[in-house]
Amino acid sequence: MMSQGHNKMGEFALIRWIQQQAKKGDHLTQGIGDDCSVQPQQDGQELLTSTDLLIEDVHFKRAWSSMHDLGRKAAAVNISDIAAMGGIPQSLFLSLGRPDQIPDAEIQEFVSGFIAEAEFYGAVLAGGDSCRSTGPLVIAVTVQGTIAAGEAVYRHGASYGDAVYVSGCLGDSALALQALLRGEQPDPYLAGRFHTPSPRVDLGVNLARSGWATAMLDISDGLIADLGHILEASGVGAEIELARLPLSGPFSQALLQDTELIELALAGGEDYELVFTSPLNDLDTRPGFSPFVTRIGVIRQEPGLSLRAVDGSFYECRRKGYDHFG
Ligand code: ADP
Ligand code: MG
Repeated sequence: MMSQGHNKMGEFALIRWIQQQAKKGDHLTQGIGDDCSVQPQQDGQELLTSTDLLIEDVHFKRAWSSMHDLGRKAAAVNISDIAAMGGIPQSLFLSLGRPDQIPDAEIQEFVSGFIAEAEFYGAVLAGGDSCRSTGPLVIAVTVQGTIAAGEAVYRHGASYGDAVYVSGCLGDSALALQALLRGEQPDPYLAGRFHTPSPRVDLGVNLARSGWATAMLDISDGLIADLGHILEASGVGAEIELARLPLSGPFSQALLQDTELIELALAGGEDYELVFTSPLNDLDTRPGFSPFVTRIGVIRQEPGLSLRAVDGSFYECRRKGYDHFG
């Protein structure tokens, strides 16, 4: 999850450095570098594991949502990384660093929300750790899931000519965050998209089982940054048509007032939708995918990401990735 100060090595540079230090691990199909690590099991399955850290006032503000919703979100954003590989979530581990001033009842509400969300997706809370924090509320979550061996969809499989798709709508969560940062109450639909995102587990599983997705990840840092990971890992480029970006009613309404808001759909972050590539260019019309999946562009050979505006000109997005409250 992105969050960086200005005088430090960027998050991506640091991860790259860490990746170079760590051994690859003969027991792993995939180590550092994708949404989950992937470890073959005895029974023809592979174990998927991912972990995410949420820190008060960096990733969330307690005043903005109920502790129940915060618990749901902490589970959901982790489950989203399992969805991004096409897997089925099974176990979640929850570690809490708790400041003394948070009452028991609020922590219980948080944990109830976390468990409810995990169970909604067929997973369970299977462990964790609890301690005091002398600073902010710290929430560290690890999730495990499974997938049939060989079915996991990685970031590196996109190839020339593939179509680029996204699920759901983009920008809603970032638009809600913008309102919250201004001290306003977002539209209820937008608020829901920010506080309680829905990991796209069924879609991920469908795409992995059918073999139709060549590369996939979940959008946590914004479409440009996250599609950028697919392009880099696959050694290709892409062209995206702005007119094709899937936008909700409330988002489109806001866009009528301020056309620059399109940058929130491109680089706002925390969408928790899936972005994936496929050699099929009519997936968005097939049962089970239509109308929930939208074709937004195409993979090309030349590296880099081009954004094509409605009038055919190239669009330069000024907003780069998601920097939380920075
Ligand atoms: P995501 O947005 O899907 O959670 P990230 O961008 O946070 O993914 O991380 C990219 C990759 O780098 C993942 O494989 C993740 O496990 C790995 N990674 C991130 N931070 C660290 C770290 N401190 N040590 C080891 N691996 C890390
Ligand atoms: Mg991810």
